[in-house]
Parts: sequence; structure tokens; C-alpha cells
Amino acid sequence: MINILDKETIDKIAAGEVVERPASIVKELLENSIDAGSSSITVEIKNGGIDLIRITDNGCGIDSKEVKTAFLRHATSKIVSDKDLISIKSLGFRGEALSSIAAVSRCEIITKTRDELTGVRYYMEGGVEVEFEEIGAPDGTSIIIRDIFYNTPARRKFLKTSSTEGAHISELVEKMAMSNTDIAFKFISNNQVKLQTNGNGNMKDIIYQLYGKEISKALCAVDYEKDGVKIKGVIARPEVTRSTRSLENIFVNGRYIKDNIISKAIEDGFGDRLMQHQYPFCALSFDLEGVDVNVHPRKMEVRFSDGNHIYNCTKEAVEEIFKLQSSIREVPVGK
Ligand code: ADP
Ligand code: MG
Repeated sequence: MINILDKETIDKIAAGEVVERPASIVKELLENSIDAGSSSITVEIKNGGIDLIRITDNGCGIDSKEVKTAFLRHATSKIVSDKDLISIKSLGFRGEALSSIAAVSRCEIITKTRDELTGVRYYMEGGVEVEFEEIGAPDGTSIIIRDIFYNTPARRKFLKTSSTEGAHISELVEKMAMSNTDIAFKFISNNQVKLQTNGNGNMKDIIYQLYGKEISKALCAVDYEKDGVKIKGVIARPEVTRSTRSLENIFVNGRYIKDNIISKAIEDGFGDRLMQHQYPFCALSFDLEGVDVNVHPRKMEVRFSDGNHIYNCTKEAVEEIFKLQSSIREVPVGK
């Protein structure tokens, strides 16, 4: 027999695609905070995010009249129609995150815009309204997610240990901090501060905090621009390498991605300065305007309409560094 699924089941299935694990919630909420123009974002988790995730930002907030709407499926302030997709600058646009997250958790939001005198607190369980009230609050948004998958036991079973789930979140916050150097991030896990950046725009400061002295002392600045391809960031001189690509941090239009074309180009730019099966450290932000890029919103993959052009530019950007300093020395790194 063929059945049409009821709305609740459809929503739960859809939510499962957005929310795979606690780290996917953190990713979506961080992207929202970044889109909201925040200069400071705090991520707090308990028990690897399984018990609690709290994200607090100082962004634009949500107008009290629109808070409930924001939690409906396909509700977004970021695009109006598909025409806007071409010029999209925000990280989100599908309007699916808040509704999905709320559907599989106990979700509380406190938010206030600069223009309003008081804020709003909205509490839902499994996406169903429990409380909605006016409340005093600072400008910005704070979202608390408790008991992820409490109402979908089948999914809850797939959660790994809290230390594994916590490690995914920690890595994600690191990448977000690296790709948004002008935002001050704070990450607290089980009441301990694990990471704090100052948002001063200096990539070198962040790398020092995340990776320590050895790498941060070996950094060279990359600042490259050609035919719609802007590359900024740092690479480490070949004295610092690893046997995997784990230290290759690549960001395209503000998103952390993994990409073979770019990785290969970076490695080829090093040429025989790299030993076989050794990979460099880099944190490079690609600003590709007018270059056709298709970034999968949930996965870390990206497709370029002209991969050759990206390859050539990237390789050249790396080569320039070695040309500039044949007697390799440290270069001060600015923004
Ligand atoms: P999307 O990000 O794709 O638009 P979401 O479901 O993630 O969809 O969010 C829905 C809407 O809620 C956003 O378009 C935005 O207007 C608002 N919003 C969500 N999070 C925040 C936040 N931290 N600060 C301000 N507005 C937010
Ligand atoms: Mg979003």
C-alpha cells in the first residue's frame, strides 16, 4: 500500500538531513550568527553537545514579530527568489536550519534587535511552541539546544561518545575562527574555555593559538589577486609538514572546504621543496567573485566551472612566495 506521510513525519525526515549530529547544529547556528553580522560569538557545549549547545551572538537579532516565523520551514530573510542565488553573500539561504533543529530537540531562543526595547524568549519542544514571552535581553541572539534527538530514539542511538561529538564541534569552531578572523570566538566545553580568539583580524594570532609556536613561526603571508581570484592567508615554510592533508585549511567564499584541485595546486606550488608524501600547512581564504562556484551547503565540497583557472592561480600564488624570498625569511602577517 502506498501512503502519504503526515507532516510531522515529513518534518522529522527533513530535519534528519540537516541535523546529523551535534556539530551540524553548531555549524548551522554559527553560520546564522555570522550572517547576522556578529563581532563576537560564544559556543558553549555540555557532554559533547548531546546535553546542551548554547550559541550567543551580538548580531542583528530577530524582530519579536518574526521570531516564530524564523522557525517555520523555508523561512529565510536572506533571499526572496531564485534570482538572488547568483549574488548570494550569506552562508545560509535555505531557511531550513532553525525549523530542523527545533524539530529534533528542546530549543530555546532569546533574541533582541537594536531597535526594540525588550527582547523575546521562545521555547519549543520538538518544534512545538511551549512558551513565548517578552523578556529583557542584550542585543543579539542566544539559542540553547537541549537533548538532541530526544524524540527520535533511532537517531539518538547513532550519536557517538560525548568526546567524539565534542571533538567534531571543537574542530568546527577552529575552522570557523580561522575563516572569520574579525569575529571574536569563544568555545567552552563542560565549563572549560577551550578556545578564545580576539577578532582582531590577524590570522597569525589565531594560528598561534590553535597550532602553537612551531607553525606560527614558519608562516609566510599570501596576498594574491588575478582574474576574479583573490587568495589571502598564510602558508608555512616547508620545514613544517605532515604526512596527511590535515593541516591544509582551505576556505572558499567564507566556507571551510576540502578540494583536491586547490590542494594539488598548493602542493605543486611548493614543488620539490616538499618531500614525497608530505603535505604543507596553510590557511588560505579564496574570494571568488565572478567565478562560477557551486558550494554544497552541507558538505564540504565545491565545484568550479573552470578548475584549471583556479589551479593555475593557486599554484602561482604559492610560487610567488618562494620567488619573493629566495632566502626564505619570516614575513610579518597582517590581515
Ligand atoms: P537561513 O539561514 O537559511 O535563512 P535559518 O533557518 O538558519 O535559515 O534561519 C532563518 C532566519 O532566522 C534567517 O534567515 C534569519 O533571518 C533569522 N536568524 C536565524 N539565526 C539568527 C541569528 N543568530 N541572528 C539574527 N537572525 C537570525
Ligand atoms: Mg541558517
